[in-house]
Amino acid sequence: MKRSHVIRLHPTPEQEVYFRKACGVARHAYNWALARWKDSRAEGKWAKIKDLKAEYNRIKGEQFPWCSEVTKCAPEQEFRHLGQAFDNYWRMKKEGTLPKLTHPRKDGEEGGFPRFKSKKRDRLSFYLANDKFSVAGQTIRIPKLGAVNMTEALRLQGKIMSAVISSRAGWWFVSIAVEVEHDVPTHNGGAVGIDLGIKTLATCSDGVVFENQKHYRQTLGRIKSLSKGLSRKGEGSQNWGKHARKLAKAHYRIACQRQDTLHKMTTSLARRYALVGLEDLNTKGMLSNHCLAQAVSDASFFEVKRQLLYKAEQYGGYVQLVSQWYPSSKTCHACGWIKEDLTLDERVWVCEQCGVITERDLNAALNIRTEALRLLTDVPVVASSGHKFACGAESAGSRCVESETFCDEAGTRML
Ligand SMILES: [Zn+2]
Repeated sequence: MKRSHVIRLHPTPEQEVYFRKACGVARHAYNWALARWKDSRAEGKWAKIKDLKAEYNRIKGEQFPWCSEVTKCAPEQEFRHLGQAFDNYWRMKKEGTLPKLTHPRKDGEEGGFPRFKSKKRDRLSFYLANDKFSVAGQTIRIPKLGAVNMTEALRLQGKIMSAVISSRAGWWFVSIAVEVEHDVPTHNGGAVGIDLGIKTLATCSDGVVFENQKHYRQTLGRIKSLSKGLSRKGEGSQNWGKHARKLAKAHYRIACQRQDTLHKMTTSLARRYALVGLEDLNTKGMLSNHCLAQAVSDASFFEVKRQLLYKAEQYGGYVQLVSQWYPSSKTCHACGWIKEDLTLDERVWVCEQCGVITERDLNAALNIRTEALRLLTDVPVVASSGHKFACGAESAGSRCVESETFCDEAGTRML
């Protein structure tokens, strides 16, 4: 099982210059390859990424001598990234799922076609293959650079696969991917249903409620005042830059607080329960809704699902997705009666058939649990964790394996 640990770095000013150079070389290689691909298309040919890579390696000594100042992994990995970007584009084109554009693109391409990388807009990052660095205690050694200080030692044990160094909100981070040995434990927990909400983060069928964090709102106030301040500075001025960095840090802080809450919740669920029933919400459709509150909580619906999928595998449990069309709120958990005209502001479930009175979200969570158990016994298949389990529309197990580049628990959250 591949897992990653994200650790903040303390580079010296010289090391930071190297990082920026390496990110620049990586971006240049990507943009060069994309431009060459477009040139060859204009000539009526379809260039292959591996041919472009060979051409780049042939000419780089002469035309881009500065790229030898940094590790050769930085440009090389970009050809793979571009290849993936094209694969995604062709796949979406074939399936007819290319994103629709509200405004035509400046370069005249379809939505989903690879874009040139921008120094301002895109996140700075570069890749290191496992033979190009070594980790010992709280330092990471990189050729042509030496030892860089890390804020903590690598927590995962196993074979180190690769690393990505990137910048976020003015800080530098390394994400180290490790192949960890993983014996699937036998889970003895029971089943739980989860109703994700906007007012409260989640309500579980065992009665536990995870609140939306209040401190999050405090930081939001700071973001508002900083954004206001930024709009009063001349764009591009020194003061503007200083302010923009502050704003980026405040945004980053919110993201970390949110992640922290979600990680604590998903870990506690994955530890306690062998089966987690979760509504499979249509996040893309909901994002197109203009209501901000919905969009914000929406992002965490997706994140909760992603985290639960890989953590369930880690602890030997299973996530059963329940269709978004299943009427979890409108059904009575006790007798199964369905109330068709349930409105959003009815916070308490009162059954007109059997008379049961429950909190609305708890009723939904109980229904999700029942539905998950029903789906589980309907079509038994073997999940990737080796357990005999049922499976909904998509295999939850196989999805876990794909979540490769994510840190566990808290990662490094220093603010
Ligand atoms: Zn009832």
